[in-house]
Amino acid sequence: MDSPRTLNRLGGVLEYFKRRKFGIVRALRVGEAYMLSKGSLYVDVWAPTKDYVKYHDYDKLVKGLELDRVHALVIVSYRPYTIMDYLKRLMDAAERWYGVSSKVRMIGVSEADVERGVEDAVERLHTYFAELISRPAASGEECPRCMGGNLQRYQFDDYFSQKLYGVARQYVYICEKCGLRISRQELLLAPKGSS
Ligand SMILES: [Zn+2]
Repeated sequence: MDSPRTLNRLGGVLEYFKRRKFGIVRALRVGEAYMLSKGSLYVDVWAPTKDYVKYHDYDKLVKGLELDRVHALVIVSYRPYTIMDYLKRLMDAAERWYGVSSKVRMIGVSEADVERGVEDAVERLHTYFAELISRPAASGEECPRCMGGNLQRYQFDDYFSQKLYGVARQYVYICEKCGLRISRQELLLAPKGSS
């Protein structure tokens, strides 16, 4: 069973993802975790109640979080990086010993600053997986890295940014030639009363 504390904080994070147009696919067997989707992107949001992870066994972790079905894992915790380090070691060991590799991208959200953390997490998901969520349009801009590659532009839905404090829109630019990814957030509208 999820503890009330977990549901509360995980509930808030899920609400945020729903506002950003992610749909809830299902609750996961490990508890304190949900699979979400947006377009063809699948992501787990996991808020383990404890700092330590009880999944010593890679198989159990993969099955419990269904890591073979998602592109990314968002970890909400007071110490997300400790958990991410541990999972990384577990995945490295699994690759060394059994030759199984995981392509899941891990993103940490610190509970000490959840509001900014979830905003950053969504920005990074859009950046890494733009092609799975949005359609490209020619930007007419040249790649600043390889000089000559065309930048394709992906646009995302407007949202209220805590970082920029106003209604914002994110664009992701991807170079057709070298694969460079650039994320830009533009402030569309500042709230009344601010200058
Ligand atoms: Zn380029």
